[in-house]
Amino acid sequence: EYVLLKNQIIHREEAYISFHDRGYHFGDGIYEVIRIYNGTPFLWEEHFNRFLRSAKELDIDLPQSLGEIKDNILTLLSKNDVRNGTVYLQMTRGEQERNHLYRRDLTPILTAFTKEGNVPISQQENGIGLWALEDIRWLRCDIKTINLLGNVMSKRKAEDQGYQEALLHRGHIVTEGSSTNVFMVKNEILYTHPANHYILNGITRLLVEQLADKEQFSLQKEAFTLEDVKQADEMFVTSTTLEIVPVTKIQGSIETNFSIGPVTRQLQQAFKQTTAV
Ligand code: PMP
Repeated sequence: EYVLLKNQIIHREEAYISFHDRGYHFGDGIYEVIRIYNGTPFLWEEHFNRFLRSAKELDIDLPQSLGEIKDNILTLLSKNDVRNGTVYLQMTRGEQERNHLYRRDLTPILTAFTKEGNVPISQQENGIGLWALEDIRWLRCDIKTINLLGNVMSKRKAEDQGYQEALLHRGHIVTEGSSTNVFMVKNEILYTHPANHYILNGITRLLVEQLADKEQFSLQKEAFTLEDVKQADEMFVTSTTLEIVPVTKIQGSIETNFSIGPVTRQLQQAFKQTTAV
């Protein structure tokens, strides 16, 4: 297995990270997870645009040109012979003796690894349950930072209660999942939280927006409440690793069940058509 460290593709066993990496001390860094279908990266430009945006928001400059980074990832994919899976790309601010105040002359550290694996067909078919709980994350959830404690803690709580994903809400307003965006369907209209600082603007969310348009469903990017969720006809979550997964049950802050509906199924079908190469 090969990994990318800075600008070198090396064996995983030979890849070492500095003790004073700011990613290690502060979670001071960003990442992307990109899906690979049939050996080809999916929505690659969109992921890199978001990566650049996260870097800009955190005042981190790329250590190499974007072209070099992309070339290295393509080489990594081919060296590991990834057919269907994901590539994880991370960039930390760099090496500096621990200090809250970051220096501006650091060299950011890029790392990437690949993972072979298919999309979770059984979850896509049968749906998952969500554990609803208060969103305790910071107020810049739009930045894809590796500092994910709020997400990590809510995911563990959901799993401990027997649920596959968390449904996060700030007060009554539903934001997103611990690693997914959330959609609700009511009277054939789709609703999802607007892309502001309360959520990560998911690449899959963007695609679902386009698919909804193509399938002639209207989509409202407006915040909805836990009460709205109780009245909804269908719910689903989206992410690079899950694609579109229906929600069949919610417990925790609210308790409700859903059957898997026609809008979700139609969008799942449209999604599969997009990724079939
Ligand atoms: N929200 C959060 C908090 C996430 O971590 C993720 C996936 N990393 C998503 C939404 C979904 O984003 P994407 O569709 O780009 O994978």
